[in-house]
Amino acid sequence: MRRLLLTTLPLLALAAASPLAGQDAAPPAPVPAVEGTFEGPYQPSDDLERGLWHQMAEAERSLKISQQVIRDPELNAYLREVLCRTVGPECANIRLYVLRSPYFNATMAPNGVMTVWSGLLLRAQNEAQLAAVMGHEFAHFKRRHSLQLFREAKEKSNAAAFLALTGVGLLFSIGMLESLFAFSREMEEEADRDGLKLLIDAGYDPAQVPLIWEQMLDERDATLVARGRDKDKRKAKAGMFATHPPSQARVDYLRAAIAGQTINPVADNGLERYRTRLAAWWPQFLDDQLKLNDDGGSLFLIDSIDKANGWTPWTGFARAEFHRRRGAPGDAEAAVGFYSDTIARGGDLPELWRGRGYALRKAGRADEARADFLEYLGRVPDAPDRAMVSTLAGVQ
Ligand SMILES: [Zn+2]
Repeated sequence: MRRLLLTTLPLLALAAASPLAGQDAAPPAPVPAVEGTFEGPYQPSDDLERGLWHQMAEAERSLKISQQVIRDPELNAYLREVLCRTVGPECANIRLYVLRSPYFNATMAPNGVMTVWSGLLLRAQNEAQLAAVMGHEFAHFKRRHSLQLFREAKEKSNAAAFLALTGVGLLFSIGMLESLFAFSREMEEEADRDGLKLLIDAGYDPAQVPLIWEQMLDERDATLVARGRDKDKRKAKAGMFATHPPSQARVDYLRAAIAGQTINPVADNGLERYRTRLAAWWPQFLDDQLKLNDDGGSLFLIDSIDKANGWTPWTGFARAEFHRRRGAPGDAEAAVGFYSDTIARGGDLPELWRGRGYALRKAGRADEARADFLEYLGRVPDAPDRAMVSTLAGVQ
């Protein structure tokens, strides 16, 4: 949910250096109406926009070959399914990219490129929450909000050029530039209200929308409390936290808007569907989150999923992994306990046995650890870490 897309930001820099940037003395083209029937994708209307489109196309070419893009056909098909259910036939004009990055974020560029970050997939508690974020981004897109910001921010683009030239990487640059391109409160409210309508029309439970923002506020608090209030605020505000700042006011007006709506009686939140389709990705996305060493935020995330959905093998696994990786006194044994409990309650992610093997090893229980490593290898014959785990299991 941020506004300036992955692709747009570096573009700002390039546009500043481009000869086209100097030719925009003409007044901005009128912003087309966004309500009403589908009129096909928006086309650039002047030299400034043509320059921007050109740069966005370049950025998309980089995206197409980026290691950070998850190309798994099943995951992509599922996200597109959710997108199309949410925004309707116009989804045909959206090019969707799934990025592996632990931050809570999604973006949509004026040329129709949407990105969904794995940190969002980890945090969305069900399909309705993912749909809500997609709908919100799409609403910014339909109303040409980021295009407006681009025009307004043109004068500041020297700063963008400088950052882009430092070669620190696309995602980092975007993080640094976010403060230059924050959506206005009015834009946010428009996107919220449009997004809410999309969600209701798609038959999802709209109560999930304010919950997302509330979770963001609470997660930020948890991170800050664990780190000490004044430390490292920038990191705590990365991604959507910076571009679509959550606030209690937003939670309140969304709640009030829902209270006035007639909700489709079959509204659902797609919890089972979401968990099933994301199951295979859970260990990897969780791993990326735990590597951030954001103990407060990670534990909050696990607790809040448990609280909303009840215990599941996914959160049982997550809690075990959290303790194993944190490595505070007593954590190895605590982790063994959580893995064992999850297995006893029917959890069957192969990573449960691998994780318990590592925790047992750390706790000095080598024989039990070897048995778990063998169990893992038996369950995932083509595991990418087979060589290492085989060594630990003593079979090679
Ligand atoms: Zn927004």
